[in-house]
Amino acid sequence: MLSFKCENCNGELSVDSSGALYCEYCGSRFHFSDEQLRGYKEFRGRMLRYLRETHERKAEEVRNEDALWHSAEYAYLKSADDNDITIRYLYRCDDGPSVTMYLTREAFLFHFKKEARALAEAQERALQRLSFPPADMKGLRDCFPVAAGSYLLENGGLLLAYRRAGNLFPLPLLGALSAEHAAWVVSRMENICCVLAYSDLAHNGISENSLAVDPFTHHAVLIGHWWEAGYASEGSAGDLKAVRSTASRILGVNRSGIPKEFTAFLNSAPKRNAYDDFALWDEVIEKGFGGRRFAKTNIQI
Ligand SMILES: [Zn+2]
Repeated sequence: MLSFKCENCNGELSVDSSGALYCEYCGSRFHFSDEQLRGYKEFRGRMLRYLRETHERKAEEVRNEDALWHSAEYAYLKSADDNDITIRYLYRCDDGPSVTMYLTREAFLFHFKKEARALAEAQERALQRLSFPPADMKGLRDCFPVAAGSYLLENGGLLLAYRRAGNLFPLPLLGALSAEHAAWVVSRMENICCVLAYSDLAHNGISENSLAVDPFTHHAVLIGHWWEAGYASEGSAGDLKAVRSTASRILGVNRSGIPKEFTAFLNSAPKRNAYDDFALWDEVIEKGFGGRRFAKTNIQI
């Protein structure tokens, strides 16, 4: 299904009980009579029901996505050597006029049109520059894209594929998150910023639109917007600010139950580097949330 974004803040729209399209990030409501939105509403409702059920299921139960994929759609491309490429996708999101992301069952695909080839090349260069601490105790490597294929297209475009592990979904599909669940996304973003610092990279595009999360495991991957990355000549401040603005957005308009330490963190200036910032965040977890514990994702619907 094609993404449908809020006109006010660009958040992925949800559907409220009256059937209106509703932005959980800024609270805007939109009433459209357009027939083509019917499919979108059905998809969003089904998606959120699935995600809510993940909350109610026991973690060890099967994470069966089959019902979602019954409503998958198809896109068709042609390779430079004239082979047909069929993309079966659940969700499609345009990122500007020249880049389209597809969520397929096994991969995140990025279709760069010919005029965006430089972006694709910048993305591949940035990912090659990533390096990881020798003892990767936290599985940090899994928080970054793993290349799964590259296809030249007939019209000069490029299709880049990255592995979709587990039950990863683009973060905007989850809608607004409670403080506890926004906190686990922040924890992963802080981990990610430490790897970026270790690699001397600035990502420059961290937002809900560049993250994918697994609601079952709280895993998160910085999957998108790598074309904006560059050397971290200015330090980590930009990415660390983006961690705060992303967390503020995914908390949405319903701000009840946010620990004051979390709010103070969101309003704080980033520390001078990602490692110190992670230590600051760790204090928020300790004081605001009583330490690390696993909470099942509670999707608001
Ligand atoms: Zn909005």
